[in-house]
This record gives sequence, structure tokens and C-alpha cells, in this order.
Amino acid sequence: MRLLPALVLTGLVGLVSAPGTLAADDPLMGKVIALDPGHQLGNSNPRFAAEMSQKKFNGTILKGCNTTGTATNSGFPEATFTWRVARELTSLLEERGATVVLTRDSNSREAWGPCVWDRARIGTEAGADAMISIHADGAPARARGFFVIAPTFIPGWTDDVVREDRRLAADMVSGMTQAGAPPANYVRDQLMIRSDQSTLNFSDVPTVIVELGNMRNARDARRMSTNSGQRQYAEWLMAIIEQCFQQ
Ligand SMILES: [Zn+2]
Repeated sequence: MRLLPALVLTGLVGLVSAPGTLAADDPLMGKVIALDPGHQLGNSNPRFAAEMSQKKFNGTILKGCNTTGTATNSGFPEATFTWRVARELTSLLEERGATVVLTRDSNSREAWGPCVWDRARIGTEAGADAMISIHADGAPARARGFFVIAPTFIPGWTDDVVREDRRLAADMVSGMTQAGAPPANYVRDQLMIRSDQSTLNFSDVPTVIVELGNMRNARDARRMSTNSGQRQYAEWLMAIIEQCFQQ
């Protein structure tokens, strides 16, 4: 009988050192990953109209604080989708010893933002090794699949980080495709280079925006709306983060 606790303990030790759990030589150990779950439920709350109307020059254009985001045809909001994927991904990353910095700490009708420039600042101030801004698209119904957005070269803005942004974006496209994520059928090479994205332009650490799927497409929407689907998106993102930090 007395042996039982020791046996249980041995079992636990076995679990702790199993592949995929905390290990000192894990390439993700000690890495700082900033996750930016796009939008916030309260962005559409009229109470926050003044906050939401703030604008800032982002290197190319004057852009607003944040937007409400899109939704599936049945009303499942992008803000909730990005929040849930970010939470799932946080668990996966923390299991591997990474430090995760989130750009918002709630998903609530009673909260707004933060503004995109503050989201970029959070990743930058954390000294993130990579920042992933998680979104979903609201494109015509036949469009489906994921694509990635990286910035153009903007002197004084993205010039310090654009090469790393582009490398991260290219790795994400190949890594997520290899992991099995459906590639966008409406964006060439699943890569969009844009000059007007504040999250990218304000960030001084390697950052990409990923549009995980099209909320207006029935197949993508089905996956996005379920717990198992949200978990699947997180696993696809995890696969690419792992690949990026492989030694
Ligand atoms: Zn979005």
C-alpha cells in the first residue's frame, strides 16, 4: 500500500518529461510570443464611440483606433473567434515554456480596443520574438482559407523590421499549409503585402497579421464556430511557431 504514492509520483514524472511538455532544451523555452486577438466585442458598443473614433497617422494614412470586425452569417463575432484561438494557442505555447503576451485581457461588450497602435506597442515593449495578430476575413461567400499580411517598406516605420516580418509571413504560409490549414483560394500565394495596416506599421518586432479564414464562407464558418475548430486553428498556428524557432 505504501508504494502506491511513489508509483503515482513516478507516473507523474514520466508525464512531465514526455515529449511535447516542458523540457529545458525546447526551442520555445523562454521565447516571448505576443498574440493579438483582433478587435474586441465592445468596439460596437455605442458607449465607446468616442474612444473608437480616435485616429493616428500610421506611416501612410490616418487610421482609426480599431474596428468591430466581421462575423459569420449566424452572428458569431470575429472578436470572439480570435479571442478563443488566442487562448488555445496561449495554452499550447505555455506548455512548451514560452512566455505569451496578449494584447487584450478580456472579450467583453463592456470593453473596447485597445487601439491598434497600442496593440503594436504591447508587443514591442515586451520585446516579443514574434507577434501574431489573429483575424478572420469577411469576404464574399465562395472565398475560403487562410492568408497572411505583411507590411511594405516604409522609411522610419517598418524599415527596421520589414525583412523579418516578410520572413515570418513566408514561413507562416508554408508552415500552415504543410500543417493542413486550407490555403486561401482568393489571395495569390496566400500573401498580401499592405502599406496601411497600423498593427504592422507601428510594431518594432517581427509581426504578421493572419486572416485564418473567411467568416462568410460556410465551411470556414463552421470550423470557426466550434471549440474543436478553434483548437484546430490554434494547432496550425502552433505548428508554424514551432517551425520558426526550430534550432
Ligand atoms: Zn479583423
